[in-house]
Amino acid sequence: MIMDPRDSPNGERYRLFQEALEIAPPWFVKEARLNQDRRRLDIILDFPKGSRFKCPECGCEYTAYDTRLREWRHLDFFQHATHIFAPLPRVKCETCGVRTVEVPWAGRGSGFTILFEALAVEYSRDLPVSKAAKKLRISDDTLWRMLRRSVAGALEKQDLSNVFAVAIDETSWRKGHKYVTFVFDYCTKRLIFATEGRGSDTLALFAGHLRRHGGDPLRITEVCCDMSPAYIKGVEENLPRATITFDKFHVVKAMNDALDEVRRRESADCAELKGTRWYWRRNEKDLSAGQRDSLERACLSGACRQTGKAYRMKILLQQILDAGFGLTREEARGRLKGWYRWALLCRIPEVAAVGRMIKRHFEGILRWFQSRMTNGMVEGYNSVLRAGRAIARGFRTVGNVILKSFLMAGKLEFDFPKNIWNPL
Ligand SMILES: [Zn+2]
Repeated sequence: MIMDPRDSPNGERYRLFQEALEIAPPWFVKEARLNQDRRRLDIILDFPKGSRFKCPECGCEYTAYDTRLREWRHLDFFQHATHIFAPLPRVKCETCGVRTVEVPWAGRGSGFTILFEALAVEYSRDLPVSKAAKKLRISDDTLWRMLRRSVAGALEKQDLSNVFAVAIDETSWRKGHKYVTFVFDYCTKRLIFATEGRGSDTLALFAGHLRRHGGDPLRITEVCCDMSPAYIKGVEENLPRATITFDKFHVVKAMNDALDEVRRRESADCAELKGTRWYWRRNEKDLSAGQRDSLERACLSGACRQTGKAYRMKILLQQILDAGFGLTREEARGRLKGWYRWALLCRIPEVAAVGRMIKRHFEGILRWFQSRMTNGMVEGYNSVLRAGRAIARGFRTVGNVILKSFLMAGKLEFDFPKNIWNPL
């Protein structure tokens, strides 16, 4: 006869743990040992003799053939590191042979309960992983391993059948020597793919990933990315039906960089440019009266005429690209063409280079007036890129950069069961 665990000798005494942990028959709390000095709680589980367990492969029920004592780290119980011990039964199945029974509290890896893993994922979404590890009182390496298993499990079930517009971008880490390419689903605003490198082959990998998860590269009709030849080639080869929108923030950034080079070149002979570096990056309306004065003084000085001119050209370019809703595509075409023609003739080599770049990528830049796509509109995008750059130093491997990015922006669904003690 199978005994009800609540009738076990210690049933009443350990009812608190029994209920707090939602332990379901046949399992019961046999003993709980509290060590105040070590702030540790050991909970020992057992099952009544004669209990039946399912073969994990075929589901037939048997009594335990033998058992092995196993330990799992569980969530803290009132600041006590809690460890669960249980004699893990094996069954001798007629069809499958000797198999270890699955217990509902065990996590994917060894040594932690599934509830502990769920909390670890929750902490690691918002906190730097080293901080989360400290909070959980486990080592960084252990936490990274746990996250890798959980994220891999969630990615396995990713459904990409409704993806038709994507944003592609890269981040560098380790002082620019290594790159990671990110692909976001533009409509659901989530990270769906990440891989090392920034060559055209990264998009071949993406196309393969898409196919494995119910998607179709031929259904991708809109892509937003920067003007890197590798991505353009990668899109043409692997997402052949996609129309590219070049991210307008990358265009403005190229112009800002050009302006910066002009300023640096002229600053050798122009005292007025001293200390103005960051003012030139801003819009006129964001400058204080004093800052505007110093820019005007610089513009009037004969020695740095090109910096002033390049600044005015930048403001105009920004106005064209920001005007957006005010301009029709054809009006925008005229204005943008006018701008690059001016840039090509302006006798400032850095700005002329921007003009050539815009001329070369004209249709894709103009496409924004129709598609309205920018990478900056992707939620989580900036945090992922920032994290890629900033926290990467502590990440050691590119895999960890990708892992953390998925935790932050992947909107992953983890299949942590609600009741972890009772599988039925
Ligand atoms: Zn079996």
